[in-house]
Order: sequence, then structure tokens, then C-alpha cells
Amino acid sequence: MTVRTRADLAQLPLYVPGRTIEGAIKLASNEVSAGPLPSVVEAITAAATSVNRYPDSAGTALIAKLAGRLGVTTDEVAIAAGSVQLCQQLVQATCTTEDEMLHAWRSFEAYPLVAAVVGASSVQVPLTDGHDHDLDRMLAAITPATRLIFVCNPNNPTGNAIPGDRLRAFLDQVPAEIVVVLDEAYREFVTDESITDGMELLREQRAKGRDNVVVMRTFSKAYGLAGLRVGYLAGPAELVTALRKVYLPFSVNSVAQAAAIASLDAQDELATRCKEIAAERGRVTAALREAGFEVPDSEANFVYLPLGERTPAFNEHCLDHKVIVRAYATDGARVTIGTPAENDAFLAAALAFTG
Ligand SMILES: *Cc1c(COP(=O)(O)O)cnc(C)c1O
Repeated sequence: MTVRTRADLAQLPLYVPGRTIEGAIKLASNEVSAGPLPSVVEAITAAATSVNRYPDSAGTALIAKLAGRLGVTTDEVAIAAGSVQLCQQLVQATCTTEDEMLHAWRSFEAYPLVAAVVGASSVQVPLTDGHDHDLDRMLAAITPATRLIFVCNPNNPTGNAIPGDRLRAFLDQVPAEIVVVLDEAYREFVTDESITDGMELLREQRAKGRDNVVVMRTFSKAYGLAGLRVGYLAGPAELVTALRKVYLPFSVNSVAQAAAIASLDAQDELATRCKEIAAERGRVTAALREAGFEVPDSEANFVYLPLGERTPAFNEHCLDHKVIVRAYATDGARVTIGTPAENDAFLAAALAFTG
């Protein structure tokens, strides 16, 4: 006899993480190659001696620090074991099986998966030919069943970001009872000043009497703590209360909380790192374009090559050169910006691609 599990899960694909191959350069998961910020390693070591105790499930100290930093109250901030967990909680807190969440496609691969786990529908609006969010089509796709909208800015995997004026016009038109999540996992890498900080947009919407914007960020990318799992968001207190109800107690462990707090105190180290990565992003983009590749402008720590049918061959070619990129079927390949030497290895491989 076989055990009974939910029949609808049979259709659900497993999340495929970026590959790791011994001896190869991994540019597949948008991690920073440089490791945690140097001052944070000490905090992690110090926190290790207290792991016999349960963590503070409410994340009091970290939430207080984040609230101060973001300019909101502590009841407007939630933390979780990575922003992927926040994505899941957001769907759980807003959608039933009757409801819809809306997002662009391609975008972050976790969105449709978390919707499926809850049993909500995921409505996907294709990116424009220029690989941008099609905000007009997203507005047109809103129905009475829409409960949640994810806007990934900059977008993973295409790297491009939505200028503030366009995003503002979109937010102005979304019905105020629908939660709009600005997923800013890569915010720290943004250098284009026309890309407005989500917290500024959240405040503007509040000033207009609307409180439906959520800004979600993570310690996994720029801060280099992907292995410790901490993400956070700021949004309406009512929603944050609902998120706490669907929070698995103690999800954010004590070492992760200590590391996140120490990371927030290391802004100079963070700024230096992000500047270096942005400079490398410019160098890699220019070299690829010079070689004839189409590369959308990226504001994140990766670049995207919309190679279409050539994507699988490009992926295999990079693997032959011991460089792991992230291939998306016959759409394109996403390549994380690593150290200058890693980027050189990738460029050498890419420039030798004749497929
Ligand atoms: C990497 C990523 C996240 C979150 O990652 P966590 O490690 O779960 O915090 C969220 N959104 C996007 C778009 C990402 O690329």
C-alpha cells in the first residue's frame, strides 16, 4: 500500500538549486564570492557558543534594528529563514485555493512554486521583448480573485530594473486592497538613480492613503549570508500580524540573527563590496556586448544572456570550461558576477562559444 499525499503535488516540480561541481567556478546562484562581510564572521563565531538555547522566535533585536534602519515601526517588519520563506508566508497569509497571485515571467522561480504549495493560482504575465516587466499587462491581468502581486526589482533572472516613475504609476493603479510585494533581493547592487528605493515608494503610497506595498529584502545576496537564511520585509502592520501567524516558530536561528545584526553594522564594508561588484558587472557586460551577445542592462549581481534555442549548448560549453551558469530552458542563461578572476574565466569561455 502506498501512503496518501496531496494529489495536486504530483504536478509540482521540485525546486532546482544552482549546480555545484567539484573544481568548477559556480556562477549559478547569485551568491557573492567574497564570503560574509569580514566583521560578521566574528559575530557568527561568538554566537556559536549559545546554540544550546532556542533562538528568540520573535527576532526582537534584529527586528528593532531593521525597523530603525527602514524608518518603520517594529510591528511593520517581519523576518524569516530567507525571503523565500517570506514568499511562502505571503501566499499563505493572503491566498486560499480560490485566489490568484500575479507576477511577471520569467521571474524568480520560487513564486509559482510557493503558490502551488498553498494551492493558489499563479498568473504569469510575460516580460516584454526587452525583458522588462509589462506593467500594463500586469494591471490588465488583475481580477477580483487577485490577492497578491510580486514585482521583482531588479528582476531575477534578467537583471533589469523598473524606473521609479513607471513603478509609481503602476502602484497608483493597483486596487489598494491587493498586496504588492517589491522583491528587492538585489537592491544593494543598484547604481542607476532612476531606480527608486522601494521604501521610498512605500512611504509615498502611504502618504496617498494607501498601505498595500511590501518591500522584501534578504541577507543572502549582497551581505553574503545565503547559507544562514535570513530575509526581511517591511509592510502594513495588519499583514505582518498575519505573516506571524503562519511563521514556523524558531525558523530564523540564533546564529543567523546575530550575523544579520552584525551585517547591518557593517555598511562601509557592504558599500565597498557592492561597488566592486557593480564595476565588474559593467566590465563583463561591455565585454559580452563587444563580442556580439545581447545583454540587458543589469542592476543586480548577475547578467542575463537571452540566447533562446542556443541556451542549452551555451550551458554545456560553459560546463566544459568548468564554469557553472544558470540555464533557463530555451530562454537564456543567467551568470553571477564573481571575483575578477572568476569573471575572466567566464568571459574566456563565453568568447569561445561558437554555437
Ligand atoms: C535570491 C532571491 C531571493 C531570496 O533568497 P533567500 O535566500 O531566500 O533570502 C528572493 N528573491 C529573489 C528575486 C532572489 O533572487
